[in-house]
Amino acid sequence: MIVAEQKKITEIIEMLGDDFETLFIVGCGTCVTVSMAGGGREVKALAELLRLYYSEQKKDIKIETATVKRQCDFEFLDEIEEEVERTDLVLSLGCGVGVQHLAERYPDRVILPGLNTSFYGATTGVGEWSERCIGCGNCVLDKYMGVCPVARCSKGLLNGPCGGSQDGKCEVNPEIDCGWELIYNRAVRLGKLKELARYEPPKDWQTYRDGGPRKLVNTEYFDG
Ligand code: SF4
Ligand code: SF4
Repeated sequence: MIVAEQKKITEIIEMLGDDFETLFIVGCGTCVTVSMAGGGREVKALAELLRLYYSEQKKDIKIETATVKRQCDFEFLDEIEEEVERTDLVLSLGCGVGVQHLAERYPDRVILPGLNTSFYGATTGVGEWSERCIGCGNCVLDKYMGVCPVARCSKGLLNGPCGGSQDGKCEVNPEIDCGWELIYNRAVRLGKLKELARYEPPKDWQTYRDGGPRKLVNTEYFDG
């Protein structure tokens, strides 16, 4: 899932500025709900905080809220057309994709980001998410025992560790597991250590961002 965190309230207030009377906060019911950054609960909490702030400032600001299933699908953005059209500012608590999709769907409205979108990650503890994939567009997990060296080695090394690992932790940050130690341990466990001896040529990054913004078209969608 896409992992994000809410911007600081001071940053949000500064971003909203002074030139508005109505605000619509829109959450997203999918990834950012799981990472507790932009779901229904966070939308309501932020709205309450902002109401309190503006009332202390003696400003009469009307705040409405809603949480759609997914901000990255137009069909769910249609549901909030009335609120968006009657509001001065829209604050999205979706990921960066959701914010931009809202801006595409409502080109005449100001859409602002309430979250900082961080990475593609998995839940690794209570209230904890960790990066697992950078969306390189050419998955090589088959060659690395299901552990991604691109996302989980701090240096993105494809041909073995850098040699700086200490007690299974990365030299870049002792809080991070060494991605290559994870790969090695999995290889031992699976009896496939020999497979790591092969040379992996430099990765072809054309499937990543180097070719510009990417698009995926699934023709079965139309044929089926
Ligand atoms: S190899 Fe690429 S697609 Fe596969 S997990 Fe790593 S970053 Fe993601
Ligand atoms: S210590 Fe491990 S994870 Fe960190 S950069 Fe070196 S090989 Fe990669």
